[in-house]
Amino acid sequence: MTDAGASPGPEAAGRPNPARARLNPAQQEVLDQLGAARGERPEFPAELRGRLRQALDDGLAPLVEDLDTEDTLFVNKHALGSVFGCERRFVALEDAPFEWTVPIARGTVAHKAIEILVHWRRKPHPLTVVDEAIDRLAEGTDGLGDFLKRCTETERAELRAEANDRVVKFTECFPRLEPAWRPVTESRLRYEHPSGRLILAGKVDLTLGQPDGPLAGKVLIDLKTGGFSPIHREDLRFYALIEATRTTPPRLVATYYLDQGKLMAEAVTEDLLDSAAARTIDGSERIIDLRRGGRQPSVSPGPACRWCPVLPDCHPGRGYLDEDASGGLGDEW
Ligand code: SF4
Repeated sequence: MTDAGASPGPEAAGRPNPARARLNPAQQEVLDQLGAARGERPEFPAELRGRLRQALDDGLAPLVEDLDTEDTLFVNKHALGSVFGCERRFVALEDAPFEWTVPIARGTVAHKAIEILVHWRRKPHPLTVVDEAIDRLAEGTDGLGDFLKRCTETERAELRAEANDRVVKFTECFPRLEPAWRPVTESRLRYEHPSGRLILAGKVDLTLGQPDGPLAGKVLIDLKTGGFSPIHREDLRFYALIEATRTTPPRLVATYYLDQGKLMAEAVTEDLLDSAAARTIDGSERIIDLRRGGRQPSVSPGPACRWCPVLPDCHPGRGYLDEDASGGLGDEW
């Protein structure tokens, strides 16, 4: 990384950078793709933050009026992705009781482990930080804490193995993060409508760099396993929007696919932020409309049919998967 947005590294002073000396090709690629010299960073107008806030304040105001008096609506990337995917599935998931399982918990454990890894002063083994993460999360009084306290030894072992896979891949693909890059893990973002009754919230897996006045410098990174989905780009645009209502917008948003060792980055522009604001307002309207049963949810078959709770009763969804199994559909992911 030439410099993810903070102060120059040792190389800038003409000294060799030990962190850079022994990078594997994946780590070098991360460094090359995420870094930018000062002169390559975009500058955003100072009034952009206020303009985006105003657009959200005004666009969401009529929706707040439609909420029940006591209601506060939290909108996150999952709700937006779900409501723009298949509305019937969105409604089904809203109604389904949430339960922690190994597949749901593994991402949270891995992210916590990476957080510990980044801030650990010694160089720890991945399994050490995974165990630390499980122990810390098990101390919580929330649903995940309960699950970790009561899960079977087999479930705990599965969780440990799957989280370890992610942490090992992270250490293989990312260079050791230097303090000068200002790494922050699990960084929370929040926009509150002036009414206090509609909140846009997010948590970025990893951020690097920081702005310098109107000069953008921060990079928002989401870590993923599995394959590409267009929704991953939308998730990060949503985060960029919230960040831009807080301070100078990020310079870049990027999804890192750990299984593939592949980074997909997108430069943040004013157009991207305006489009994210419009999508957020539209998605919030859909969420409110569907929650209060204002209309019939539409049905949009797609890859998510595989994990849909109403698949047995959904003719279009079963048809989609039958066709997919016979090789009739393209690979959308
Ligand atoms: S099975 Fe597919 S099409 Fe049917 S409701 Fe679920 S996600 Fe939508």
